[in-house]
Amino acid sequence: KYLTSAEIREKYLSFFEGKGCKRWPSSSLIPDDPSLLLTSAGMVQFKPYFLQQKHLEAPYVGTTTVQKCVRTNDIDIIGTTGRHQSFFEMLGNFSFGEYFKEEMCAWAYEFSTEVLGLPAERLYFTVFLDDDETIEIWKKLGVPDDHISRLGEEDNFWRAGPTGPCGPCSEIYYDQGEEFGCGSPDCAPGCDCDRFLEYWNLVFTQYNGQEDGTLEPLPKKNIDTGMGLERMAAILQGVQSNYETDVLRSLVGVGERLTGTVYGEDAAVDLSLRIMADHSRAVAFMIADGILPSNEGRGYVLRRLLRRAVMKGHLLGLDKPFLNEFVDEIVNLMGHVYPEIVENRELMRRVILSEEERFGANLRQGRAFLDEALAELEGAVLPGDRAFTLHDTYGFPVEVTRELCDERGIEVDMEGFGRCMDEQRERARAANTKDAEAAWSTYGGVMAEILEAVGPTEFLGYTKNDAD
Ligand code: ATP
Ligand code: MG
Ligand code: MG
Ligand code: MG
Repeated sequence: KYLTSAEIREKYLSFFEGKGCKRWPSSSLIPDDPSLLLTSAGMVQFKPYFLQQKHLEAPYVGTTTVQKCVRTNDIDIIGTTGRHQSFFEMLGNFSFGEYFKEEMCAWAYEFSTEVLGLPAERLYFTVFLDDDETIEIWKKLGVPDDHISRLGEEDNFWRAGPTGPCGPCSEIYYDQGEEFGCGSPDCAPGCDCDRFLEYWNLVFTQYNGQEDGTLEPLPKKNIDTGMGLERMAAILQGVQSNYETDVLRSLVGVGERLTGTVYGEDAAVDLSLRIMADHSRAVAFMIADGILPSNEGRGYVLRRLLRRAVMKGHLLGLDKPFLNEFVDEIVNLMGHVYPEIVENRELMRRVILSEEERFGANLRQGRAFLDEALAELEGAVLPGDRAFTLHDTYGFPVEVTRELCDERGIEVDMEGFGRCMDEQRERARAANTKDAEAAWSTYGGVMAEILEAVGPTEFLGYTKNDAD
C-alpha cells in the first residue's frame, strides 16, 4: 500500500517539527507583497523574516509549511508535462539565520531515504555552478560523484520575483528510469524530459536582490526549501504523472464522469481532462482567497484558467455549465487541510457558475466567428485583429484561440494581437475605466446574494482584493 498525499504532507511537517521548526499555516494566494501577483512558493510569506524585519520566537529554529501555490509561468505547459500544474502544494521549511546548508542537506537526505524510503541509487543532486562547498556536503553524506552535477542560473539560482530574498540552490532529482527519458545521450538532471524528476529545491537564501539587479548580502544566511507534494506522491505511488496521484486522479475522475470519457485512451482527451482537473482546483482556491474574475491582474489569471477549462469541456461535448461541479470533490479531498475552501464552498460554486454562464453565451458565437475567419483564411496565420475580436467581443483568452487554431495547423499573429491590445489599453486609459468597478458590477449582485445567505464573515478576502 502506497503513501497517500495526506500521509506525505503529514510526514513532512512532523519531520521538520521534530527538527525544531514551527508548523505554520499556508498563506493566502494573494501575497502580502505588491511586487507579486500570486503566491508562487512557500517562502513568499516569510520575506520579512529573511530580511530580519520580523523575528521568530524562541525556541524554534525555523518554520515548516504546506503552501498552496499558483504559477502562471507554467500555464502554457500544463497537462503536456505530467509534472506541472497551475495549482500545486509546496512542502517547505525555512530558516532565518539558524540552520544552514550542512544541516539542511543532511535532513533532506534523511527525509528522502529514511522517512520516505527512496532508494539512494535513484537520487541525483545538482548545485549552482562553482558551489564546491555543497558538493562536499553531499559527498560526505555518501552521494557518489556521478550523482552530483552543476547547473547555472536558470535552474539553480532562485528568485520569487525581480527583487527580494534569493540565492543559489541545490536540487534533488529522482531517476524515474530510462523508459521515462528522451533517449538523448545528454539526458541528465535538468533535462526537459520526465526521466530525472526534480522534486525538492534547497535554496540558500543569502542575498537581497535590488531594483538595479545587484545582489546585496543578507544580514544572515537563510534556508528556503520547496518540495512539490504532487511530484513526491507520483514517485511514491508509482504512477506516470502528477495527474494519476490520489487527489488529482479523483478530479480527473470528475471530468470523466461529466464528459463520459475515459482517461488514458486518447492523448487529446487526457490533456483536456488534466486541464479541467488542474484549472478547476486553481480557480476554486483563488476564489476562496477572495479573487474574482476580471480583465486585469490576478482576476484575469483566474478568468483565463476558468475559460480555458470551460472550453476543454465544451470541446468534449459539454453544453451546459459544468466546472462548478468540481467544487464538491475539491472540498472533499482538500477541505481538511484548507478550511477556507469549506467555508467558501458556496461562493466558489456560484462565482464559477456565473462566469461559466457569462462565457457560455459567447462561446458558441465566438466559435462560429472563428470558423468563418478560418474559412476565409488564405495562408496559415490568423490575423491578430481576429484574435482580438475573439478576446474583446467573445471573451476568448488568446491562448484558447491559439489552441483552437493549433488543432487545425493554424498560427495566430501574436504581434498583431498585441498591437490591438495596446490600442485598446490606450482607449481604456483615456476613458479612465476601472476594471475593478467592472468586476463589481458583474459580480456585485451574486456576492450580495451570497452575503445575505451565508453572512459577512467569509467575505474578508474581498477587502484585500479591493486594494488592487
Ligand atoms: P521545474 O524546473 O520542474 O519547472 P522549478 O525549478 O520551477 O520546477 P521550484 O521553483 O524549484 O520549481 O519549486 C520547488 C518545487 O516545487 C519543485 O522542485 C517541484 O517539486 C515543485 N513544483 C514547481 N513547479 C511546479 C508546478 N508547476 N506543478 C507542480 N509542482 C511544481
Ligand atoms: Mg518551473
Ligand atoms: Mg527546476
Ligand atoms: Mg527548482
